[in-house]
Amino acid sequence: MSSTHAQTRARLIFDACELLYDFGHDHPFQARRLAALIDLLESSGLWRSGDERQSLPFRPASMEELSLIHHPEYISAVQQLSMPEENLGDPQQEQAKRAQLAREYGFAEGDTPAIAGMHEVAARIAGGTLVALSTVMGLEEGETGAPEERPLHIFHPAGGLHHAWAERASGFCIYNDIAVAIAHVLRSSEAKVLYIDFDAHHGDGVQRAFYDEPRVMTISLHETGRYLFPGTGDVLELGNGLGRGYSVNLPLAPFTEDDSYIEVMNALLPPLVLSFAPDVIISQHGCDTHAWDPLTHLELTTRSIQAQVRCAHRLAHTYCHGRWVALGGGGYDQFRVVPRVWSMLWAEMSEQALPEQLPEQWIERWRPAWEAVKEQEVLEQELAGKTFFFADFPTTFEDQAEHFPPQPRRWSISLENRRTAAMLRQILVPSPIRKVFSAAQRQSPLTDLYDLLHPGGAHAEQSEVFETPKESILLRNFCPPSLVERLTVDSGLHAFARLPEREHQLLVDIARSPDCALTLAHTSAGAIVGEVTLTFGDDWWVGLEDIYEVTIEVSSNWRELGIARKLLAFALELETLEDMILFAMGLSWHWDLEGMGITPRHYREMIRQLFASQGFSEYETTEPDINLEPANILLVRIGKRVDQYVANRFLRRISSSPHLTGL
Ligand SMILES: [Zn+2]
Ligand SMILES: [Zn+2]
Repeated sequence: MSSTHAQTRARLIFDACELLYDFGHDHPFQARRLAALIDLLESSGLWRSGDERQSLPFRPASMEELSLIHHPEYISAVQQLSMPEENLGDPQQEQAKRAQLAREYGFAEGDTPAIAGMHEVAARIAGGTLVALSTVMGLEEGETGAPEERPLHIFHPAGGLHHAWAERASGFCIYNDIAVAIAHVLRSSEAKVLYIDFDAHHGDGVQRAFYDEPRVMTISLHETGRYLFPGTGDVLELGNGLGRGYSVNLPLAPFTEDDSYIEVMNALLPPLVLSFAPDVIISQHGCDTHAWDPLTHLELTTRSIQAQVRCAHRLAHTYCHGRWVALGGGGYDQFRVVPRVWSMLWAEMSEQALPEQLPEQWIERWRPAWEAVKEQEVLEQELAGKTFFFADFPTTFEDQAEHFPPQPRRWSISLENRRTAAMLRQILVPSPIRKVFSAAQRQSPLTDLYDLLHPGGAHAEQSEVFETPKESILLRNFCPPSLVERLTVDSGLHAFARLPEREHQLLVDIARSPDCALTLAHTSAGAIVGEVTLTFGDDWWVGLEDIYEVTIEVSSNWRELGIARKLLAFALELETLEDMILFAMGLSWHWDLEGMGITPRHYREMIRQLFASQGFSEYETTEPDINLEPANILLVRIGKRVDQYVANRFLRRISSSPHLTGL
């Protein structure tokens, strides 16, 4: 894609009226940060407000659209509190009434004070995000045009008000523009929406709005709520009912820093996006994650924020035909951080090279604004427990590494974050996908693993014909990647990657991994109708030996023909498996359940019987995935030659989930 073409397909949506969303000079949330951003974009030549090819027309969200998320009583309270006080009738009576409304709807505690005109400006911001999301989705909004001309990426810097609840204001947020826009897409299309929240604070309002909705996955990476507003965002907030598994929270330790942030982000986002298969990505890029932010402690620099933006961009192109809306959000170092970081976001989105130096005129205009609040910032940094403060104004877009001395506890903090990410992967990512996206530095240390899983080397391939009432099926063991590539995938085989073509790619990748074994069932025409994978237990089982996870999948078009039982028996008849502990954990395959029309308990019993036919027993466990969901089950088969000591360690582990303590 040429750079000019990329620019015409990326838009920035901004309207000067959005600058009215401002809580005043004594409040951390001020519109001056947006003014500084727009000025930086214009003075560095990255964006021109008058250029129609880079912008998008704007409109407020209607009352009807706001009420997709917000309760009518709340909207009415916002409207009343929005009116300037001088217009009131009996001042005393009116003031008492306003105080009552403020208490009831979240405007009384100081964080989110009621300001004149707030209904209008918050509705405009919600409209901006709604227009942006509708436009990339090709809904009847904004410009209609040929799909190949439609804007693919849109940045709405004033959006991202993720804390607002249905019935109250919270954390500087009045209307939840993100939730309103997503709700509009849900009712206007069949699309599935992925929301990624990079703000330092938990994206609680958006999570609440879609907690039981399987068409929306919310992923929030944030500083742990142990000490920080809003206090939620625990790993175990996973969604409810059909929405279970679609709320994802990665709470990070204070002082996480760049390396650990990038590591856990990469461990989690790509496999989750593959397994969810969204149609569009909407991401919130609150930059209060930055080391200079006065309210938080993640201590990131532009390096990880750049990585975060690139990751969202790449995922949108790989999995969503490029459809991507990016939003602003928090960010309270208004002059040194917000303008630079969101300019980077826009440069990435519109595929423009970022200049190295900040324009001198821009520094001249905004450095004095920072000087005026510098003393206050130093004080706030001290209050936030930060030991280091860089007391100067930056001159480059990217941070200079020497301005960010490493924290002494870096190693143990990284370990803590790594464990949190491993637990989430264990709970939320199907094992075959986890395997394909394994974190490189934690590859199995066992060099003989390939030989264990592929006795006799690559030529050991075995096959067997299985007669079904439909037609005969060929079962094959040790399938090499070249074979898997030649086969096709039946349309009903999509339990892990959601789409048959992605399931096919997943199987090819598994066949390529040295620490996986793949067994397939396919028709004479070469369509894969079932698969069993055997994978080395990954990071979750670190410290244990000879642990292998088994997963099985049969195409929904080929069920009740006895294929699952036969295929599992065929895959597990290897003599060498007596040296291994095999386990299967469900319902990590609960995606499969969605299309089957049976209850989770019924499904659980089916799975139990299927694995019992191969000598697996059900085990009690404190593993969170099993423990938290009554329909889930842990099935284990301990091989006859497994050392008693190794087996006991495994059994102790499953009954004492070590990583759950301290969360
Ligand atoms: Zn925030
Ligand atoms: Zn792009």
